[in-house]
Amino acid sequence: MIAIVKNTATADQLKHFVKWIEDRGFKTNVSRGENETVVGIIGDTTRIDPFLLESMDIIDQVRRVSEPFKKANRKFHPEDTVIDCGYGVLVGGGNFQVIAGPCSVEGENLMEIARAAKKAGATMLRGGAFKPRTSPYSYQGMGEKGLDLLMEAGRELEMPVVTEIMDARDIDAFVDRGVNVMQIGARNSQNFTLLKEVGRANVPVLLKRGISGTIDELLMAAEYVMSEGNEKVMLCERGIRTFETRTRNTFDVNAIPVLHHLSHLPVIGDPSHATGYTRYVRPAAYAATAAGADGLEIEVHDRPAEAWSDGAQALTPDQFADAMRRIALIRDAICADAEEA
Ligand code: PEP
Ligand code: MN
Repeated sequence: MIAIVKNTATADQLKHFVKWIEDRGFKTNVSRGENETVVGIIGDTTRIDPFLLESMDIIDQVRRVSEPFKKANRKFHPEDTVIDCGYGVLVGGGNFQVIAGPCSVEGENLMEIARAAKKAGATMLRGGAFKPRTSPYSYQGMGEKGLDLLMEAGRELEMPVVTEIMDARDIDAFVDRGVNVMQIGARNSQNFTLLKEVGRANVPVLLKRGISGTIDELLMAAEYVMSEGNEKVMLCERGIRTFETRTRNTFDVNAIPVLHHLSHLPVIGDPSHATGYTRYVRPAAYAATAAGADGLEIEVHDRPAEAWSDGAQALTPDQFADAMRRIALIRDAICADAEEA
């Protein structure tokens, strides 16, 4: 971190500032230029609040020169992380997987949806048993019964199960049943207590970007999980809230290469929540694939009009199969290109 000192500061004020920093356990490096003086602050500057420094009279500006996320940072871990989600399904480092299934687990139709998704090429099964709904009066999910149905389908089809955890008190119920991937939803992306608790479990995590979350906030959320010991984190771009109203969210395709640049963690694209409408899900899925996502999460329902949640964005099994054919073509094209380069 560097602090740029105003050229009006006296030598005494500068000395006082340097002492203030050093008293807090940091080293300093003062470089006096013709027009400004720069104080380099060396040490774990994540402990310093830059706004506090900027509020000091003699300070002009404060800039971070290293990112506050360490464990998720590609600088300290140049190779891509590959996550084993169970049943030999690997994500990251060139391993591309598609997670498919209904928004909510609703009952017996789960098995039928899962079979169709697998037939079309999905390698992981999703479904919400605990649903984060904007309204407390909307359907809240089947709870533990839903987890049982998911696990049964996952075992029968040998597909790892991805399902959302909303409350740290449910972690044992997930772990005891052998849930393969715990999803942290957009609404809980900055629920730091939950992130820390999930960080103490030894289960891969699919971490969604917050509804209005920046890329850095997503990386810091991953850091919360990783700093507790669980380094098996997949990042998920699921669209962010913008001024646009024609789609449910705005799919930030940029985030996919940006996250790859900044982090070694796998990046998953979710075109379903990113767009909110079935008609836009496939084009967004193709864009995410072409942008280098390590996988996709797509909602699929046998009868979208009757779905208990997110029916407007569900693909039917036939639409999903069509998407999978084109996704495979895009993967072939970008992978062949990467080999030539
Ligand atoms: C979901 O995956 O069904 C979901 C609720 O997603 P998000 O947290 O991204 O809104
Ligand atoms: Mn959903």
